[in-house]
Amino acid sequence: MKPIFVIICHMLTSALKITALVIIFLSLHLMACAQKVSEPQNTPSEWSMPYKPFRIAGNLYYVGTFDLGCYLITTPKGNILINTGLAASAPLIKASIEALGFKFNDIKILLTTQAHYDHMGAMAAIKKLTGAKMMVDEEDVGVMEDGGRSDYALGVDTSTYEPVKADRLLHDLDTVKLGNMQLVMLHHPGHTKGSCSFLFDVKDERRSYSVLIANMPTIITEKNFADIPAYPNIATDYAYTLNAMKKLSFDIWLSSHASQFGLHSKHKPGSGYNPAAFIDRNGYNAEISDLQKQFSNKVGHK
Ligand SMILES: [Zn+2]
Repeated sequence: MKPIFVIICHMLTSALKITALVIIFLSLHLMACAQKVSEPQNTPSEWSMPYKPFRIAGNLYYVGTFDLGCYLITTPKGNILINTGLAASAPLIKASIEALGFKFNDIKILLTTQAHYDHMGAMAAIKKLTGAKMMVDEEDVGVMEDGGRSDYALGVDTSTYEPVKADRLLHDLDTVKLGNMQLVMLHHPGHTKGSCSFLFDVKDERRSYSVLIANMPTIITEKNFADIPAYPNIATDYAYTLNAMKKLSFDIWLSSHASQFGLHSKHKPGSGYNPAAFIDRNGYNAEISDLQKQFSNKVGHK
């Protein structure tokens, strides 16, 4: 018979072993969780800089950062938020919405112009906080649900933003309805496979405006289009989008990045309501023709 001392020692050792195993397991689990999302660092400071929210036209408001365009559309049945900026911008967007006198929890629908981390970073958090429904272009759903891992250009081993589950998949010309608002989704692939723009009307006391929130088809890949097996249709998609965007009619032009539509030359923080500042067909045409040149150079047609 073993002395009682040996038995106790044995029991203690087993308990310690189990505790050690539990600790190792928990740390591995925490490490895995921590590694799950890794947002790229050293992004331009303009992407996170706060910006004073303002009324663009009618029931359409700017609630983004200095450069990352986030748009709030209010209706009597709740609100729509398009894009979120980086992960850390969730409190900033919430504060902007509240500063305009709206309730954060009234967001019912979430949309994005493209499933990249600079427009999706805070989407999962905002969806969790508000319970809003996420609607996405069908061609971006895979990338959105793996947090950007499978993106043909920016995809890395880890997610670059917290994955978001889609509640509805959108196709070209589908309508998103809430209250008295109807937004038409325009499939504008290339930048991501499911990049898209939104076209809708807003009204103020004087008139109505047709608004385009455009995803400008900028080229981010350094590779030749022929060397991207993950996106065999990339060249055809960019060509399609450039062509489709040239034909659009609208009054007000906005886009995913404030710099793309010249927000800072058109509006100064604190200045009064002036929808006319964003009526800029020439600026839009110049931007599209510049992007057309970049595309033509890339595919070798000069
Ligand atoms: Zn992007």
